Amino acid sequence: MSRVDLQIEPTLRSRLPTVGPLGEVAFSTVMSDHMLIADYADGAWRSAEISPYGPLALSPAITALHYGVSVIEGLKAHRTARGEIALFRPRDSVRRLNRSAARLAMPSVPEDLLLEGLRALVRLDGAWAPPLDQGALYIRPVLFSTDESLRVKEAERYKLVVLTAPYGAYYPKPLDLLVNERYARAFLGGTGDVKPAGNYAPTLVAEREARRSGFDTTLWLDARERACVEECNALNVFFVIGDVAVTPSLEGTILPGITRDSVITLLEDMGVRVEERRIGIDEVVAAHERGDLRECFGVSTAATLSQVRRIGYRGRELMLPPVEQGRIALQIRERFMAIATGRAPDRRGWLDIVAFETPAASPARPAKAEPVKDAS
Ligand SMILES: *Cc1c(COP(=O)(O)O)cnc(C)c1O
Repeated sequence: MSRVDLQIEPTLRSRLPTVGPLGEVAFSTVMSDHMLIADYADGAWRSAEISPYGPLALSPAITALHYGVSVIEGLKAHRTARGEIALFRPRDSVRRLNRSAARLAMPSVPEDLLLEGLRALVRLDGAWAPPLDQGALYIRPVLFSTDESLRVKEAERYKLVVLTAPYGAYYPKPLDLLVNERYARAFLGGTGDVKPAGNYAPTLVAEREARRSGFDTTLWLDARERACVEECNALNVFFVIGDVAVTPSLEGTILPGITRDSVITLLEDMGVRVEERRIGIDEVVAAHERGDLRECFGVSTAATLSQVRRIGYRGRELMLPPVEQGRIALQIRERFMAIATGRAPDRRGWLDIVAFETPAASPARPAKAEPVKDAS
């Protein structure tokens, strides 16, 4: 059992006063004051530090750059009605980071080291979380190799960096999805069910095609037959056909979204029948023709829930009913936000509450080290 001390070096000058109202910040345009950095070498995590956000000095030969030895996570924290900060299902996110890492032969991060680090980071930058119901603090862990090597090989040194970024609550614009049959996002035996950095760059060309054709994003089909619906880019997809909510089952090519899992639970709470199964694009088209395709929506941490307005497939356009009629989507978004902000009871222990003192009540903190038990 080793111990990693989390060092905290707070900024002497917060950038927060230079940022306008946090409820109006667009996603990913502003980073908070601090970042967490932990280093792994010689078989163990060596150090963990929270320091002011800023550039890193890295060798141009690191294998993260050359071979994509890098995995990401994404989670959120909200301000609660009681003024605390609540992380949403952080342990699930840490576990998924470790599954992603294992798939790329990377070392795991001790759960408690990262959880304690996330809590300390959010406590320190709590003032960056938008006010209740006006948005969230997005949290982005990235774990990557810092080995200097031009050989493709398992690395020996890694860095974990965690950034946070506030963004305003917005009513997401309804999405227009274009089915892309030319490319595929994921295949069995590949990495579609985890979050390596390398999953995303190959989708950019499809995203460009979607935008050029007047759509917002891509609806992916399975790589083998281009027959079954898989995901809508970085969102898990749900269809409401008749009275049943259908979402693709997790069979190795779908990212097991934490929002997807939460939404399935909330649908069942609402008494909606949920089917996790394969769903053919032909079935979606047929349901639309019969008038049974009532709703379609994508879910993810960053977006929470985005309703779909239109699906383009082989030159046809499937118009969904107006989003205002999306009874299930609207209720799910409402229920989800009520739990995430502590207004509705958290019966499943999804929230990890971090007490937070407003900066007015606590002036600059002195640097201090908090010991963190390394679980490995
Ligand atoms: C991260 C991600 C999602 C959403 O997962 P959440 O845990 O809900 O944020 C969906 N699809 C892909 C491809 C993703 O990378």
